Amino acid sequence: MKTFILAEKPSVGREIARVLNCRKQTKSFIEGDKYIVSWAMGHLVELAEPGAHDPIYKEWNAEHLPIIPERMKHKVIGRTSRQFSTIKSLMHRKDVNNLIIATDAGREGELVARWIMRLGGYKGPFQRLWISSQTDKAIRDGFNNLKPGRDYDDLMRAAECRAEADWLIGLNVTRALSCTYDTRLSAGRVQTPSLAMIQARDEQIKNFKPKPYWLLDAVFDGFSASWRGKSGGRIFSESSASELASKLKDAEAEVISMTDKKQSVPPPLAYDLTALQQDANRALGYSAKQTLKILQGLYERHKIVTYPRTDSRHLTADIEATITDRLRALNGTDWMGRAREVLVSNPKPGKRLFDDSRVSDHHAIIPTEEQVNPDRLSAEEKALWNLIIKRFIAVLSPPHRYLKLSAELTAVGESFFISRTKVIDEGWRAVEFIAVDDGERESDGSGRIDSLQKGQKLKVEKTRLQQKQTTPPGRHTEGSLLASMEKNALGTPATRADIIEKLISNRYMERSGGSLQLTPAGEEVLLLAPEQLKSAELTAEWEKRLSSIAEGKEKAGSFSTDIRKNTEKIVSSVKSGGKDYKPKDFSKKPCPLCGRMMMPGKDKKGHELYVCRSLSCGYEEEPENRSGNRKPSYKEKAVTRKLMKQYSDDSPDTFTLADMIKMKEGSRKRK
Ligand SMILES: [Zn+2]
Repeated sequence: MKTFILAEKPSVGREIARVLNCRKQTKSFIEGDKYIVSWAMGHLVELAEPGAHDPIYKEWNAEHLPIIPERMKHKVIGRTSRQFSTIKSLMHRKDVNNLIIATDAGREGELVARWIMRLGGYKGPFQRLWISSQTDKAIRDGFNNLKPGRDYDDLMRAAECRAEADWLIGLNVTRALSCTYDTRLSAGRVQTPSLAMIQARDEQIKNFKPKPYWLLDAVFDGFSASWRGKSGGRIFSESSASELASKLKDAEAEVISMTDKKQSVPPPLAYDLTALQQDANRALGYSAKQTLKILQGLYERHKIVTYPRTDSRHLTADIEATITDRLRALNGTDWMGRAREVLVSNPKPGKRLFDDSRVSDHHAIIPTEEQVNPDRLSAEEKALWNLIIKRFIAVLSPPHRYLKLSAELTAVGESFFISRTKVIDEGWRAVEFIAVDDGERESDGSGRIDSLQKGQKLKVEKTRLQQKQTTPPGRHTEGSLLASMEKNALGTPATRADIIEKLISNRYMERSGGSLQLTPAGEEVLLLAPEQLKSAELTAEWEKRLSSIAEGKEKAGSFSTDIRKNTEKIVSSVKSGGKDYKPKDFSKKPCPLCGRMMMPGKDKKGHELYVCRSLSCGYEEEPENRSGNRKPSYKEKAVTRKLMKQYSDDSPDTFTLADMIKMKEGSRKRK
């Protein structure tokens, strides 16, 4: 008898087949003496559209909303249905009596496999391969240590709740908004609050009124010291600043204290996906999606880093014994010298790094034991790999230690400070330079501090006033948006990059010179979207509950009930909230059928397309110079297909304009 192994995608399936010595290749599976390996291509099954639950839902009609099926139906995704059929027949082969789930070891990977098993009618026993690296050793170890498949039932329930929540909220709110305002609009459980964060920051910047403030230094022979009051060194009134300055004229100061403190700054934490995406955005200018894609290649193809989609910045205790091998794998790279230093110094980072309680599904992103050949990496891969190795070496390095010398002086009852730092041991900062900011201002001539003595009296030679201005926060970049999303528990590490891409492809925001900018269309959808959906709190609360379900602490049923109640509430607030709304003119191109404005878009080749924003009209066209004189019905179809392609994405986390067009397509009667 044979065991059937289901991988997430072809490349991973082939690797597993190779390690397990399966040789007989076909286009859609690989067979050996004991195993048959096949693969999904991401999801092969999805939640069925409303029309499959009841044909009346094919039409977009506000009266039908909210659409809340008692039981969600599933369907096989059309374009990959052949692979599904192959898997189904393999699972039912007479000589197959066991199944191993080898999809991505995470919430979404679990769902990929379970839905295929469910629709394929597999009822036999199954086990789970749960690995954090794609090296031959990790795959072999994983197969020697398979987990009971049922151990992941709670994870599957959480994944299913997530999918249902996105369907219920995204689809209903999108339809409610579009029908109420007769305009194509798209909203979602994660995308809308994320977009609202961009707007909130833009508002903050727009409303920011810079406030002048003054800094005051007392200048002595050869050095200066900065004034500091009870609430810091900023003086917000010019008159009190100059009053203070004149009081100090010819004053005498006394050194009242001298302190030296040894400071120790521990290394930064290892990378999880979000932290790496932020640093790659800042240091290399990569988008979050780009970082994930490159990282996936380093993990799957080169096998030199561990599982990317992790939210842990720690390692499990069993990793400690493998650190030496991971460092040795850097021999022959630019990092060899540093790696040796770490090996020789034999650091013991302890619980700061190795903490089982801080790792749920996967540990932080670190190198594998696979020997690295940097020549095989592309320039982009190498740059990202460098960041990961730099951080890995840094976390294993000793703390950065320095001596902080400071002196306090008083004159006319006011306090002045001067300080300097002396590095004792660079530690991890020799590898990765991160500024250590203790909020103090550098003074001139701080070297003179060494010669000062307590009780010493000095003459204030003059004073120096500097005028400054408070500055607004910067616009959101991809890095800072990721950080805010993480802080507010919006999405998961695996989905955040896709959410950002989706908002950009829906034209609700755009990249502009390194930062993210809300578009007029984005402003519009936020104006009309219900308040509950704009606030991060609601989504964050749901995300927390999904984690509890995955941990078996909450029942999926109570979540399902609540999400249904919430859907009703949100939809009724959209339907009754009829805001005074005039569609914005994005294109200056009126629709020839109804006169409303057209929505511009672009296909994959960068060609422009136009779609009427009115839902009830639905006119679509290519610009005249491209469409030639084809018949409108044909043209209309082609454009719809292209738009669907443009807006489609395999990620299930949000509802896109493509879904909307796809669903409308099903209902359109030929005119
Ligand atoms: Zn129109």
